[in-house]
Amino acid sequence: MRPGLALVALSAAVFLTGWGASGCDDAPSQPGRPDRTAAGRHPILLIGLDGVEWDVVLPMLRQGRLPNIARLMEQGFFGRMSTTRPTLSPVIWTSIATGKSARQHGIRGFIHKAPNDPEYQRLYTNSDRRTKAFWNILSEEGLRVHVVGWWMTFPVEKINGVMVAQVNTSTPQRNQAGTGIWKGSLVEGLSGQVYPPERQDEFLAVVPEVEAEMPELARRVFGTFSGPLSPVGAKLWGACDWTFRADAIYRRIALRLLKEDADYDVLAVYFGGTDVMGHRFWRFMLPDRFEMKPTPQELQDLGDVVWDYYAYMDSVVGELLAAAPADSVVFLVSDHGMIPINRKAQFDPEMPAKALNSGGHPNAPDAFFVACGPGIRKSGMAKPLGELTRGDLPYVGTIFDMTPTILHLLNLSVGRDMDGGVMKEIVEPEFLARNPIRMVLTHTPPDWFESRPALVEGAADTEERLEQLRMLGYIDGPGDEDKPKDYEGPADSDYDEYSG
Ligand SMILES: [Zn+2]
Repeated sequence: MRPGLALVALSAAVFLTGWGASGCDDAPSQPGRPDRTAAGRHPILLIGLDGVEWDVVLPMLRQGRLPNIARLMEQGFFGRMSTTRPTLSPVIWTSIATGKSARQHGIRGFIHKAPNDPEYQRLYTNSDRRTKAFWNILSEEGLRVHVVGWWMTFPVEKINGVMVAQVNTSTPQRNQAGTGIWKGSLVEGLSGQVYPPERQDEFLAVVPEVEAEMPELARRVFGTFSGPLSPVGAKLWGACDWTFRADAIYRRIALRLLKEDADYDVLAVYFGGTDVMGHRFWRFMLPDRFEMKPTPQELQDLGDVVWDYYAYMDSVVGELLAAAPADSVVFLVSDHGMIPINRKAQFDPEMPAKALNSGGHPNAPDAFFVACGPGIRKSGMAKPLGELTRGDLPYVGTIFDMTPTILHLLNLSVGRDMDGGVMKEIVEPEFLARNPIRMVLTHTPPDWFESRPALVEGAADTEERLEQLRMLGYIDGPGDEDKPKDYEGPADSDYDEYSG
């Protein structure tokens, strides 16, 4: 019995009512924010949805299962955004936040290795980023910015707003299970996860709240299984719980920030579950693409898992929209799409969970992009959303264009050293005419990295924090076996993120 559909329909009705007539309509600016209104700025809500694939979205639009995304698409601009290789989350989400490639921003994968020391490995962290992210640029301009769960934000740094880090870790157990590094959430007993630091305890208190909510949330999102899962199903399912938890934590924190501060300029929040569910359950969603078909029971229990998670994320988008100021500009972006992998594999339950993956993103499949709100054009598609095919989706730009576009919408200059530029096709011509694109040589002085403002824990302290993670068993110490693989080369690879 899978009550998913009915529940989604119910939540859609609630969220549509909640969001009401405002959302992306050009609603009059709210009173109480004279500075921003005078400057012609609108608050920007940037929602990152890892690995969202148009081939999943389009059939769900036909079925009416993504009502909030559909509403944004109808009133805004959408299309395919090209991405880059290596198609790894830490690299790409940093590119989205900086407008620059890995060559410039310095985050080249998950893990550093020292060329001369095979024992040495450490996770890339926020302190490795060699160029300013949009949150640095905005903060220096006096704009307010909140960042929740974004890749490579641990340890946090001082911004003009709140930063809640994504702490990425991997445990020896996870490595043995083939699940490697995971998209973290918040970790008890570790400082440097929240800026300002005096709010860390408050946000850590969300973790047990979410823990208590998890069983009911899982039932609501996925329904209940017909019985015990098959060995393969159980293994894949067991390699997902952390992502539900992380997304549920970021959701609560983002909603709290939206409710307490209507005066931000950008709120960016990241969710990773769409990617993880795709990696794990693509074969159950699209069995025809695979040599080894799932059993009827597996199909009954797991066939809707990917769809259900997308529907859940749509409802979260609806909640965030309802809580955001009415005149917000909203971006929904993924870092890459997803395609079937391991199509000829036999999916032996003895294999590590990683080898049981059936979705992945080799060859950098195009990312998902929707934008809506003041200053954003409407796509003006002749077809209803339910009839759209992939071929109808225009290219809107690349992942490197996100930060330049955000800066331009806020009337800030775009760096000439950025690898992307403003997505002009998505911006209303009147807005462009009123606000010509301003360029600056760079936002990042040559010595910025060397003299980078200390991260909240103190840049020199980062090693100590990592040691703390090691002691908590969250990352490997030097010499551990089953180290997560490194990714240094630019070549295409089936190695997928967090090795899972
Ligand atoms: Zn990703």
